[in-house]
Amino acid sequence: MSRTILLAYDQLDRHHGPLAGARPDEDAILLVESEGMLRSRTWHAQRLFLLMSAAEHLAVELEAEGFTVHRERAPSTAEGASRHVRAGEQVVAGEPSSHGVMRAWDAAGVTLLPDERFLTPRPAFADWASGQSGLRMDAFYRWQRARLGILMDGTRPVGGRWSLDVDNRLPPPRKPHPWPEPLRFEPDAIDEAVWADIRARALPVTGAAPDGTWATTRAGALRQLAHFTDNVLHEFGPYEDAMPADSWSVHHSLLSPYLNIGLLHPEEVVRAVLQRHARGDIPLASTEGFIRQVIGWREYVNGMYWHLPADYRDRNGLDALRPLPPAISEPGKTQMACVGGIVADVDARGWVHHIPRLMVLSNLALIAGVRPDELLDWMRRMFVDAADWVMVPNVIGMGVHADDGLMMTKPYAAGGAYLSRMGRSCSGCRYDPKKRVGDDACPFTTLYWSFIDRHRERFAGNPRMAQPVRGLERLADLDAVRTRAAEVLALLDAGTL
Ligand SMILES: Cc1cc2nc3c(=O)[nH]c(=O)nc-3n(C[C@H](O)[C@H](O)[C@H](O)COP(=O)(O)OP(=O)(O)OC[C@H]3O[C@@H](n4cnc5c(N)ncnc54)[C@H](O)[C@@H]3O)c2cc1C
Ligand code: SF4
Repeated sequence: MSRTILLAYDQLDRHHGPLAGARPDEDAILLVESEGMLRSRTWHAQRLFLLMSAAEHLAVELEAEGFTVHRERAPSTAEGASRHVRAGEQVVAGEPSSHGVMRAWDAAGVTLLPDERFLTPRPAFADWASGQSGLRMDAFYRWQRARLGILMDGTRPVGGRWSLDVDNRLPPPRKPHPWPEPLRFEPDAIDEAVWADIRARALPVTGAAPDGTWATTRAGALRQLAHFTDNVLHEFGPYEDAMPADSWSVHHSLLSPYLNIGLLHPEEVVRAVLQRHARGDIPLASTEGFIRQVIGWREYVNGMYWHLPADYRDRNGLDALRPLPPAISEPGKTQMACVGGIVADVDARGWVHHIPRLMVLSNLALIAGVRPDELLDWMRRMFVDAADWVMVPNVIGMGVHADDGLMMTKPYAAGGAYLSRMGRSCSGCRYDPKKRVGDDACPFTTLYWSFIDRHRERFAGNPRMAQPVRGLERLADLDAVRTRAAEVLALLDAGTL
């Protein structure tokens, strides 16, 4: 039986998974363009372009190696693959990155190989999880460090502590800071042809057109990795949570899009960072902070996605029923300077770093009671690095606490005090972060207290929420907060907040 390798948009790794041992004299390549995927949603233009162009670049490279590449269109990838299965071919792919696609490829008769895009095989995570009384990322991270022998001094962590976050997470500096300049990637002929095709076929896209922010080749992804280790990593730790006004990328790696589609493997990212650290001029807090994101959070989130029940994505434990507000879904539809700036950034490049995703967009959805599924759908469409395995736990569990605390022990809710400390938008905002009542009260501050108020009984039994609940009980103006919260929510719904 001849072997056909399914070149999925997020399995573009020549060195891992089904392509690792592929040979032109034994294997053919199948690149299916799924009409369902392309037209089911309005994707951010840069996200769709990245997926299509990166796949086409790899297809061309494989042709240059001598492979036959079948480029086909089908209602879905599964249907495209099943045509070849029915013709007697063995169609092979790595395990996909969502429950839905897993079911569809299984039903289509695709032979699925273990997912090699992570450092933790799915069965290894399941084994670890089965030995835990409660699942927590820090325990997983310690296990990963010891198991993989990363930043270890025998059985102890290098530096004596597993996490050096107390040295990290500074607010943005008040003085001008020399933020690293992000790389640009010039489009090549393949990029231009793919973008022309997206436009000619009027595929539904939104947001700014591709502008060279994102690489579409492995060579470009490797350039970004080298740029990160040489010019960005040294201050990753201190400014990990900062939201300055004069840099969108801060000291972040911008590697998630490449890691998630197979242009980079986490093992080589970790190796590059450790090699750079070994030269001696990168603070341990930055190296450890970054390593924790990659071998800790990224692997934990993927492990949890497959460990949690498949209906986890539909959880709505806080009964949040408000539609996604225009402040998030439409650029330019809010007077909240922090939200407006971040939504404009998402529109411009399909990316903002972790804190705007968590503490601004998700926090607003959480404290305003926005439907988790609507936030999830918007983020899936708009972020250049989105995938089901990573979005579902991050949004449902971490972002809006819709899972009754399965992922996180407490909700990431915050008012204007946190945002004015970690961001630089408040000075140019029509609202005042210190106020919770009145026309110029910061909506985050008002909604924060109203959120604690609405859920005080639910949170009463959670020791990590005891302090905010006690704070609420001390509020002398709670009635006025409730009145202002009702006004704020009406304005939010109307798109005039
Ligand atoms: C609501 C919400 C939605 C998110 N959606 C996505 C998403 O669709 N795709 C995605 O890759 N990440 C997502 N994240 C996690 C994180 O925000 C991004 O990985 C990060 O901002 C990507 O930028 P970077 O590569 O510069 O990351 P850096 O800050 O440089 O971090 C390094 C790497 O660590 C990994 N990482 C860090 N935190 C997480 C996390 N919580 N989950 C998984 N990986 C993590 C990423 O691979 C990232 O590239 C989400 C977080 C939240 C709170
Ligand atoms: S005052 Fe409130 S709404 Fe305005 S930028 Fe600050 S945190 Fe955001």
